Formats: sequence, C-alpha cells, structure tokens
Amino acid sequence: MNHDDLRIWSKHAADWAHGYHAGLRDQPVRAPLIPGAISRQLPQQAPEAAEPIETIFADFERIVPPGITHWQHPRFFAYFPANASPASMLAEQLANAMAAQGMLWQTSPAVTEVEQVMITWLRDALGLPADFTGTIHDSATTATLSAILTMREQATDFAGNIAGLTGMPALRFYASAQTHSSVDKAVRVAGIGQNNLVKIATDSHYSMDPQALEQAISADKAAGMIPAGVILCAGGTSIGAFDRIADCIAVAKSHGLPVHVDAAWAGSAMICPEFRSLWAGVEGADSIVFNPHKWLGAQFDCAIQFLRDPTPQVKTLGLRPSYLETAGREEVVNFNEWTVPLGRRFRALKLWFTLRAYGLEGLRSRIRNHVTWANEAAQALAALPGVTITTAPSLSLFSFALETQAETESLLNRINDDGRIYLTQTRHDDAYVIRVQVGQFDCTRDDVMMIPQVVADLMA
Ligand SMILES: *Cc1c(COP(=O)(O)O)cnc(C)c1O
Repeated sequence: MNHDDLRIWSKHAADWAHGYHAGLRDQPVRAPLIPGAISRQLPQQAPEAAEPIETIFADFERIVPPGITHWQHPRFFAYFPANASPASMLAEQLANAMAAQGMLWQTSPAVTEVEQVMITWLRDALGLPADFTGTIHDSATTATLSAILTMREQATDFAGNIAGLTGMPALRFYASAQTHSSVDKAVRVAGIGQNNLVKIATDSHYSMDPQALEQAISADKAAGMIPAGVILCAGGTSIGAFDRIADCIAVAKSHGLPVHVDAAWAGSAMICPEFRSLWAGVEGADSIVFNPHKWLGAQFDCAIQFLRDPTPQVKTLGLRPSYLETAGREEVVNFNEWTVPLGRRFRALKLWFTLRAYGLEGLRSRIRNHVTWANEAAQALAALPGVTITTAPSLSLFSFALETQAETESLLNRINDDGRIYLTQTRHDDAYVIRVQVGQFDCTRDDVMMIPQVVADLMA
C-alpha cells in the first residue's frame, strides 16, 4: 500500500464511517461478550507475504465492528462518555496524516503553539484566573501522576528524584474515598505507597470533611511524617461527589501544602457559569485536571492539566540530555518537560476544530440539555414501583436500585442484554446500584427517556 492507495482507501474509510455512525441507533450499545470470539478469527501468525488492502478492509468490516462497544452510540449511558465530535474526528485525520511528534517546540512549532493557545481558550472558558497555564496529557491518570510526582519532589526539596526516598520519613497524601482509583495508582507508582494515601472522612454529601483533613495532617506532623499534598475531587466517578474545594484548600494552604483537583469528568461542565459554584474556590489550587475527551467532544485522548506555576513540575519531569537541547531557544516551551512521556501527539488540533465548529455556546447547550434530561429520566424512574433513586443527579450522573442486590443485578444484566441502552454499576454506601450518566454528544431527549422506558419494559 502506498500513498496513492491511501488516498482512495481513506475516502472509502470516510464513507464507511458515515454509514457506521448513521446506523448506530439500530445496533446494541454493548458488544456481545463472548471471550475469544474475535481473536479466534485472526491467524496465529503475521503474514510473510503482503496482502491486498481489499482483503484487509473486508476482514476489518467482517470481524471488528461486532466486537466493538459503541461509545459513540447516542444511548451510551455507562461509565463516562468518550465523546468524539465529527469536527474532532476530522482534526484527528489531519493529525494522523502529518503524523508529527511534538516532543520539542522545534520538532513541530505548530503542535506546541496551538496547544498553548488551546490551554488559554479553555482556561478562560472554564472561568479560571489568567495566571493559570497548562499542558495536554493523554489521560487524567497521567496528569494526576505528574501532579503527585511534583508534590513528592516539592516535599523532599527535589531530593527524591536524585537520592530516592529510602530512609526518609513517610510522605503523606490526602484524598477522600470518592476520589478516582488513578490517585491510588499514582501514589503507588510514585513510590509513596498506598498506606500513605490517607482517605479522609466525608460528610453527609460525600464531600471531604475539612476538619477531618486538618486533624489528619496535624496528627501526621506530630508523628514525624511529612504531609506532601492534597488531592480533591470535583465530580467523583462513582456518584459525582464534590469535595468542599474552598474549605479544603484553606486547610491545605494553612499547612503550606499544594493541592491537585481532579475534575476529569465535571470540568467540562464548568464552561457553563451556573455550575461553577460546585467547585467554588478552585482558583486556589496548584493543579487541576479535566478531560475534554469525556464531555466536551474532543475525542480520546485529551486531558488538560492547568498549572498555577509550571516551574516545580518542569523541575520534576524535565530532563535535558544533550540530544534534546535546543540551543539558543530559551524562549520556547518544550512540553515533554511538563509530562511523563517524551513523545507527544498533536492533541490540540482536535480541540481547535471542536471549539470552533460548535462554539462554546453549542457545547454549553449540549451540557445543559444533558443535565436537564438526566433529571427528567431520574424523575420518571422514581415513579416506577420498586425503583429507588439512590443518589440524586450530580450534574448529569445519578444512580438507582431495586429492593435487593439480586434484583438490581439481574435488572442490569437484562438491560445490557436488551441492548437499547447501556448502563453500568457502582458500589455506594455498601450497596450495589445502577449508575446512569447522560453525556453522549449526539443524544436527544428521546434517547435519554429510553432509560425509564427500557427499565419499565424489563420489570413488567
Ligand atoms: C475518568 C476519570 C479519571 C481517569 O481518566 P483517564 O483519562 O481515563 O485516566 C480520573 N478521575 C475521574 C474523576 C474520572 O472521572
């Protein structure tokens, strides 16, 4: 296959994509789960001889889509969305065509400079102060790891990277039980140890209790340990919990501790000013992560980390071996020094296309609709006999259950085998509950109201 063939086949792929998206509503949302059903259809070894692209494409059409869970299906209400707006897909095609690697400014100035402008656009769109800058990572997990590594280095006066942590008093981090498992993963990977991530008690709203945070930090100090940072949750994955950001930041600051806010999902909603009270005080954070690849339409992968001052993170993650030096170019930013990986995709291009093709107003109206429709669906579900709304909508995320765990589990299995909608479960207050989030880019009110409809049908 050469570039002339590519020209033909990429047009063919565009037509295929159009048909794929047009037909999604007729497909079951979740792939039928039969382990081995796909791999069994592939040869055991790579071919020695070249094969014609016709054959490869035909095999793709036959084998792959039946094994895909349709994340762009308008009735995908599981997990969180991974929205891919059409404009974002177009930008990804162009980024793929150039296949540039933006590790340094000079390895493609456009990759770095469009990224810098997109960070500014989004910072302003979310109502964050002008002293925040930032960068794009692959995932919120990487952004949170970067933040925790930076806090570790700040707490050790940048000795950890060089001397290691052996022999040091324990470094302590603080988060609530509502924070995402990526925080647990980050403390493990950063050499902090799971036991040194202190899970702070929450109040009746599942928000971190600032007094409990104060007590935990003081007790650790008294015990000779080193408090190193606080991770706050703005829109938890399980039920959408929000910590009391301003109060908890005040406690952290009184101990001189840096704060990272995980708003991976809910951050997108902050383009709507009416939702910003949920994370009031966030401007006091040192680092904030949010994923435009969840709710904003810039397809996976695209995680934004805002930083009040990038210096400590660059000091932590930036390495300049001689082959990466950019002599005489001290004025440029080399974003690999802000992140864990060296290589970087051109992720800013899909933000540029998405923000322009829909405008902030178009994106806001989608999010507002999702929140309204989630509330309507929750109300309709609550009216069904035997259904309890276990957590009320936080933005567009709520949960419900039937009387017993066995009934709830069995209902969820029937819902997902039915295929018209896709929902997943979580554990809340020790109970098994069904989670509903509304956020797919193309969903309509009718799609959302299919949730109570399907539940009513399957309970009849
Ligand atoms: C989805 C999510 C994450 C993890 O995001 P990735 O980009 O997949 O690493 C972290 N925190 C919260 C609150 C999330 O919703």
